[in-house]
Amino acid sequence: MFDGLDKPNLVLHDILKDITLPSCFNKYEKDRLLFFEKRYIKAKNCYDIKPCNQIGKLNIIESKKMYKNKIKGQLREKILKQYNESNCPVCGREYFKINIDHVLPQSKYVQYSITPINLVPMCSDCNKIKGDVNYGFHPFFEDYSRLEGLSFDIRYNTVDEDIKINLVYESDISEKLKKCLNFYGMDIKIKIESKKKIKKIKKNLGSGIKKKDLIACLESLKSNLKFDNNNRHNMILFDYLLNNSDDLYDYIVN
Ligand SMILES: [Zn+2]
Repeated sequence: MFDGLDKPNLVLHDILKDITLPSCFNKYEKDRLLFFEKRYIKAKNCYDIKPCNQIGKLNIIESKKMYKNKIKGQLREKILKQYNESNCPVCGREYFKINIDHVLPQSKYVQYSITPINLVPMCSDCNKIKGDVNYGFHPFFEDYSRLEGLSFDIRYNTVDEDIKINLVYESDISEKLKKCLNFYGMDIKIKIESKKKIKKIKKNLGSGIKKKDLIACLESLKSNLKFDNNNRHNMILFDYLLNNSDDLYDYIVN
């Protein structure tokens, strides 16, 4: 999840020469869009770029129409062909349906409706959550796949067997990660998945387990994890459980 992607090789110039442009699109509009593309490519933070609802004769309605008729039809495959990934860069799951997301949304940024650097492949679920918001995760500029600074705080209640899982963010770097996980609802998913894993360990090991066998079990589960970015949160979970195995042991044997 939150995997960076290489910036696209495709640039606006390639697109403009390939499509039949609408009548409102002349040299002035073309030059402005090329100018704005340069600004985007050089931007340190694309979310700082100001919205714009009109460039010459090109307005939001016309630019949306242009995207829908031209990009979606003729150039969608060309854009997607650049990425060999089989997983969504945001949630990390294998694609069920691929959408193209306008990181800076079409409804506010007339200048980036057909600009490749603003068009990011994304699964339809993540795309739906993102909607028209100009916030999120831009895989051409950001990479949080290491989930740096993320940790757990797990409290066990041996009376009602409940587990309270909190995600802990340990550094300033993880502030953006925290926002991204929250924005796409993945913090909740991680908590639910982690809780299930712990309950399963308790059920499988039973209350007669010895401490050293619990440790061996956690180490084995950790080493069996597929080593990729989509499992990073599980690695962090098992590291936490190994470092705090006394609490887990008490929970299992009581
Ligand atoms: Zn996704």
